[in-house]
Amino acid sequence: MLYYKTREDVDIIKQSSEILAHVHAIVASNIKEGVATVDLDLLAFKYITDKGGYPSFKNYNGFPASLCISINDGVVHGLPSNYKLKQGDVVSIDCGVFYKGFHSDSAYTYAVGEVSDEVNTLLKTTKESLYVGIELAKVGNRLGDVGNAIQTHVEKKGFSVVRELVGHGIGKSLHESPEVPNYGKRGQGFKLQDNLVLAIEPMVNLGKKNIFQDRDGWTIRTVDKKPSAHFEHTVLINKNTPEILTTFKYIEEALN
Ligand code: MG
Ligand code: MG
Repeated sequence: MLYYKTREDVDIIKQSSEILAHVHAIVASNIKEGVATVDLDLLAFKYITDKGGYPSFKNYNGFPASLCISINDGVVHGLPSNYKLKQGDVVSIDCGVFYKGFHSDSAYTYAVGEVSDEVNTLLKTTKESLYVGIELAKVGNRLGDVGNAIQTHVEKKGFSVVRELVGHGIGKSLHESPEVPNYGKRGQGFKLQDNLVLAIEPMVNLGKKNIFQDRDGWTIRTVDKKPSAHFEHTVLINKNTPEILTTFKYIEEALN
């Protein structure tokens, strides 16, 4: 089932996205050595609920937190905990906001302090691959075009794309059709249509693509224990330039 959005729906998703963008910035400014990840989660919960929203992930399939915080070999779906961030950690923050009946979803990955050139390149390449994919997310193109562009950009640098987890349609539900893979063949897959809203979210491993689920029942980790990165935007499909509804603007202001 596909859910096409009206202009009014999109306006609400934008309001939801605006709250989400500020949540990410608050978290970004608190990512430093010694901070317990559960405290980042509490900041996010407080900000979202103060604004009249609710964290999309909290209680989703029983997920206990507002943020997914995935560290180092954690790819996605990591649980906030008493773990304190250390120099050299790679920290992916994924968050969703439910506001006036609509969800928004975005993710960003940080390095704590100094990391290797290889890890810096992983973060830069994963973020670039998100925009490379978004550029092709327009009416008439196919999801294979989007996935292929992401995959090609990532593999050119020697990194790998996770296969089992994908992006998704988003709106009144956090996960709607279609699935949005970060790999694929040009000219294949679902043909994009006007007024769909998609969460595009490359998950990129520094080493091999293989993943597994941790015994905690949530965290997805790399099999080879190498770090992974995740960037995500919520995007409106148009005939021309896709409209990115979420933004990293406040994150990047907070980091500078
Ligand atoms: Mg997400
Ligand atoms: Mg998502």
